[in-house]
Amino acid sequence: MQASIIFIFLALVAIIWGIQRYRVKARRNRLFQEPLPPEHITILENHVPLYTRLPKELRETLQGCVNYFLDEKVFVGCDGLEITDETRLIIAANACILLVNRRMKRYPGFKTILVYPNTYVAKQVSYSGLVEVHKDSTRAGESWHRGPIVLSLTDVVRGSSNEQDGHNVVLHEFAHKLDEQNGVMDGLPVLRESAHYKEWAEVLTREYDEFLDRVERGKNKVIDEYGAVSGVEFFAVATESFFEKSKQMKKRLPELYQQLQTFYGLDPANW
Ligand SMILES: [Zn+2]
Repeated sequence: MQASIIFIFLALVAIIWGIQRYRVKARRNRLFQEPLPPEHITILENHVPLYTRLPKELRETLQGCVNYFLDEKVFVGCDGLEITDETRLIIAANACILLVNRRMKRYPGFKTILVYPNTYVAKQVSYSGLVEVHKDSTRAGESWHRGPIVLSLTDVVRGSSNEQDGHNVVLHEFAHKLDEQNGVMDGLPVLRESAHYKEWAEVLTREYDEFLDRVERGKNKVIDEYGAVSGVEFFAVATESFFEKSKQMKKRLPELYQQLQTFYGLDPANW
């Protein structure tokens, strides 16, 4: 008797869980297929030049990604900033450009995007031997491991409006989010095929060494020197250049371009 009650209870839990999962999936599919309302498309056309450069069929996919992103993420204004549709859309569209031709078209593992009006000051802790050193560091954005993204709106708008200067804080911080999807942020994101890892490691290691050498000789172009901080930052700034200095990267750093082209499934130099 007791065994059959337990069985019925477990069956009910499984059914409710199945219905819930079906609803979440159905909702996700609907959001991905829904175009944005015309007033939101106008915001993208006016403030996200990378969106207008996208091939038409990818623009439709991007709209679905943006729909889902806006539904899933929570935007929090800091220092009195009021979050507008414009702010949400500029951030969502730039973030989703990284996903538009990837298999997983969402950013799992975190929910919140904190937006400051301008660059903000964060406490930075480092160690000098056994001494803990605290200092203030001014930032345009940051990505917390398995936690929120923090952005300065002034830098978001500046980065989005000029799509050819290689600086885009949203592309940068969300590249970090892709990087951490395998559990560690180490400059090695989840690649499409397991067969791609060997070549990625060879090319990225060589390109990073050559980049450090160019930076030291004062001969660096295409990729921002901030990438010299680490392999993690190199991947993030290389992503900014891949989208915003795509022609220069394809010409000067074709092997790095090829790796990112395969990773993102995009060829922005031909847009
Ligand atoms: Zn970074």
